[in-house]
Amino acid sequence: MIDNTGLVFAQEPEINVGIIEGVRELKGRFNGPFRLDDGRMFTGPFSVRTSEGRLIFIDQQGARIDRKQELCFRPEQGATFSLTDVTIGIRFHWERKQEQTFQGDLWLSAAGGALTAINRLHLEDYLASVVSSEMSAAAPPEMLKAHAVASRSWLMAMLMRRGKTVDPGADRREASEQAGEIIRWYGREDHTRFDVCADDHCQRYQGITTIITGQAAQAVRSTRGVFLVHAHAICDARYHKACGGRTDNFENTWEEIPVPYLSSVADADISHEPIDTEAAAQKWVRTRPDAYCNTIDEPLLRRVLPSFDQETADFFRWRVTYGREELEAILREKSGIDFGSLQDLVPLNRGPSGRIMRLRIEGSKVTITVGKELEIRRWLSPSHLYSSAFCVSVERDASGLPVRFMLDGAGWGHGVGMCQIGAAVMAEKGHKAEAILKHYFRGAELKKLYD
Ligand SMILES: [Zn+2]
Ligand SMILES: [Zn+2]
Repeated sequence: MIDNTGLVFAQEPEINVGIIEGVRELKGRFNGPFRLDDGRMFTGPFSVRTSEGRLIFIDQQGARIDRKQELCFRPEQGATFSLTDVTIGIRFHWERKQEQTFQGDLWLSAAGGALTAINRLHLEDYLASVVSSEMSAAAPPEMLKAHAVASRSWLMAMLMRRGKTVDPGADRREASEQAGEIIRWYGREDHTRFDVCADDHCQRYQGITTIITGQAAQAVRSTRGVFLVHAHAICDARYHKACGGRTDNFENTWEEIPVPYLSSVADADISHEPIDTEAAAQKWVRTRPDAYCNTIDEPLLRRVLPSFDQETADFFRWRVTYGREELEAILREKSGIDFGSLQDLVPLNRGPSGRIMRLRIEGSKVTITVGKELEIRRWLSPSHLYSSAFCVSVERDASGLPVRFMLDGAGWGHGVGMCQIGAAVMAEKGHKAEAILKHYFRGAELKKLYD
């Protein structure tokens, strides 16, 4: 499919999206004619279940297909299909079941004993759905285009990397646990039966159940086949909500492999010095430097973030305050470690965006150093802290015992790659998608890899 020398695809790739996995039976409906490989046609409601590692498929007329391990139904005349009871928001508080409708092929498999339903479709159709559900249609058009290119690049880089993984089923969480130190970063656990899942673990995809807006479809169409490319490879184009004024380096969040196009940049048209001392960090998080994502333009924020509300308005600079016992309880719950009476939180290393990579937590029973940024955010909040770019001040009683911990922070998310709020502001100021992408992904080029 791919010509490595020129990095050009012969045609638009197809993608296998896992919709339902690990169930014993499911129900659905062909909203028009679908053809099986052997030429038989099906339309209307159907049900399918597994028995002894094989599929039993029954349609509304009672036609039955027994004991196949896989069935692939292809639409005729652009027909769509619906599946009932698709679980969305897996493990989130809004988890629920919903009927969903898809274009493209329906591929059913009983491999491994349970039932898997996979939707196989063209990459560009998939992207139109993803961009529609991740971004509000009212976002500035050049930002939607930048996002379409970034999502397309991230996805293809992930699929190509996965092909090289020695053990695709392995848990890619990396940890180094020496005495008194817990440093973890989280890679992706790849899927084995399909390319991507339909939930937030990969990118949220609800087929054409999501209304594919004209704006998202236009952003995808006008960038069709366009990828970010660096050194003859498609870029692993990461993105996050708001950097806080400066983006950070890939290796500060993930593996210790510097990625040239994922290195820190000032998110501004002026230059900010990288944060290199504790004093610089203090000044940084307690002021509001000029930056693209330093915006209080609420109408714009509402247009960019579909679920924007007033509570998330202060993501550029924020403060979280904990009573000592409250923070001790959170730490016990999230880390599984009883620190005793909490004495201090001491940042040991920071990245250029101010994000802490190693934090020393001093307790009366034990002192532990934790990293990297996601683990720090996990440990210090009932859910997640906005970011690990924060400074700590401690209010103490007369005996020196901490009463309260104040965290003053900057930004929202890991801070690597494209800052979504910054990109929206850049687009609003008249920057084109290409300029936005080249601002965040330094040294990367845009290339059209298929027509
Ligand atoms: Zn996934
Ligand atoms: Zn930013």
